[in-house]
Amino acid sequence: MGATLALALADADLDIVIVDSRTVGETTRGDRTLALSHGARLIFERLGVWTPLAATRGAVTPIVTIDVSQAHGFGTVQLDATEQGLPALGYVVSYRALQRVLDDALLHARMRVDYGAAVSAVSGARDAATLDFEGPRDSPVNARLAVVADGAASSVPGIARRRHDYGQVAIVAKISLDRPHGGVAYERFTAEGPIALLPEHDHYALVWTRKPADAPHTIALDEPAFLATLAGHFGSRVRGFTHASERRSFPLTLEVARNTTAERVAVIGNAAQALHPIAGQGFNLGLRDAYDLARTIVESARDALGSAPMLARYRARRRLDRRAGIAFTHGLVQLFGNDRSWLSVPRGMGMMLLDSVPLAKRAFARAMLFGMR
Ligand SMILES: Cc1cc2nc3c(=O)[nH]c(=O)nc-3n(C[C@H](O)[C@H](O)[C@H](O)COP(=O)(O)OP(=O)(O)OC[C@H]3O[C@@H](n4cnc5c(N)ncnc54)[C@H](O)[C@@H]3O)c2cc1C
Repeated sequence: MGATLALALADADLDIVIVDSRTVGETTRGDRTLALSHGARLIFERLGVWTPLAATRGAVTPIVTIDVSQAHGFGTVQLDATEQGLPALGYVVSYRALQRVLDDALLHARMRVDYGAAVSAVSGARDAATLDFEGPRDSPVNARLAVVADGAASSVPGIARRRHDYGQVAIVAKISLDRPHGGVAYERFTAEGPIALLPEHDHYALVWTRKPADAPHTIALDEPAFLATLAGHFGSRVRGFTHASERRSFPLTLEVARNTTAERVAVIGNAAQALHPIAGQGFNLGLRDAYDLARTIVESARDALGSAPMLARYRARRRLDRRAGIAFTHGLVQLFGNDRSWLSVPRGMGMMLLDSVPLAKRAFARAMLFGMR
């Protein structure tokens, strides 16, 4: 998110230093695939990042249909790009390729990036924020505004965080089918939690929610047994699994900063809210944090940068979208990501309603694609 914010400010004639603990060219999220909304594409287009990303082989796969269903229950929803009047409902993007394109864009914009510089503390005071560093580095950095975008488990004095453990683990893997994916994504709600299959290049990217006790066993299954277990959860909705590779797992938690600013400091991205991946909202929401903060900075007078009124404007701008994104994702996990079987009837009715009422479907699709504003 830090890179996106910096690129959005590249022409603002500000003195910007980007510090990243990654070494030059290192990818920290190379094992992750992102579902990005149409709104995210529009932001990257404005920053000149989308064209090189889309030109990278296999880096961007359009999602033209999303098929939502629940195991052991009725009701399905089919969202279709043509119905929504869009070229695609969203895009599956390689995080590795995105990180590379963002790094290149920073280089071309001649922005100063200090790679391999790990911040050990950020402290805000009346006139400036100070960044201290781990290991050998000449001196701390002082700034009128420090933006913290260091991901989940971020720690900034004055910004308390609330953590909720979902008691779930996500298994991610590359999955092949016996036919081309045709741009169709699947979201399947099961008693143990949701499973997503995202069409990526020549395969599917799997995000499979399991109970922590089951995850190590599932990951260790041989390929036919792993695919058979997966197929068992998809029932007749998806058939023809042929290969599974690159299996990994992540614990699933919700982390929310109680406030997104402190004196001379703003937090964005996962440092502000790290969400369950059920609806693929985390990166999209963080991107809007970055973009809205950039707009607030550009609209502020230079001597007002990092001031309490400027930070209040940023908070106000993000309030609705942020709250809605957190509530939407958390609500979806509560409603669909659990084993309460009595919920299967209201879930099914909700899905049938959504599928048959165009206005409701459009509102749902819009929230998924662009966020709440
Ligand atoms: C399994 C899974 C699937 C997901 N799928 C999706 C999806 O489909 N769509 C979606 O929108 N979201 C998805 N997400 C969420 C998404 O991955 C995150 O929201 C996103 O990666 C957050 O980006 P970030 O830049 O805020 O943090 P990070 O990606 O964690 O980046 C933090 C940066 O800060 C740097 N850093 C860290 N500590 C320091 C330090 N002390 N000093 C200096 N630099 C530091 C790191 O080097 C890194 O560059 C998924 C998450 C998971 C777990």
